[in-house]
Amino acid sequence: MKVPICSFCLKSEMYCSTCREKIERGEVSPLDLEVAKHLLELESRFPNLKDAEFRGAIETDSLIIIVVGPGDISNFIGPKGKIAKVLGDALKKKIRVIEGASSTKKTIEDILSPVGVLGVNTIWLPDGTLEKKVRIKRVDSRRLPASVSNLEDIVYKITKEKIRIALE
Ligand SMILES: [Zn+2]
Repeated sequence: MKVPICSFCLKSEMYCSTCREKIERGEVSPLDLEVAKHLLELESRFPNLKDAEFRGAIETDSLIIIVVGPGDISNFIGPKGKIAKVLGDALKKKIRVIEGASSTKKTIEDILSPVGVLGVNTIWLPDGTLEKKVRIKRVDSRRLPASVSNLEDIVYKITKEKIRIALE
């Protein structure tokens, strides 16, 4: 499996200078390391993980989002959702797997799923910054995988773009 630091460093916890720098810069978080370690342990049981790419993980109150390489979502969910289940049990949170390399709109759709996105509008704020207004149906808001503010936060952490979820 491809992970954000050397797999040798990950297994031994004796980090080389390159890996240590990534950790110190915050490029690789303690959560990334923890999730990567669990995933490496699962590799022998789920051979599809061997060629898959784990990019990082983001945590909220109720959810851990696993960001993976293009086309790798099913490899990380596993047969009948087994990997996500084992990982969720180990980390004591619900797991959601999304692709890292897709567009912002695709990332937003993946994160909000099963709730459908009606549209995404880009808005210029008075201070000159950009915000994306993500429109969903008000009746769907109960089915969101986490709270609106949590989800806005997650999207920002992954895409570095500010979004605001609007209920219609
Ligand atoms: Zn290393």
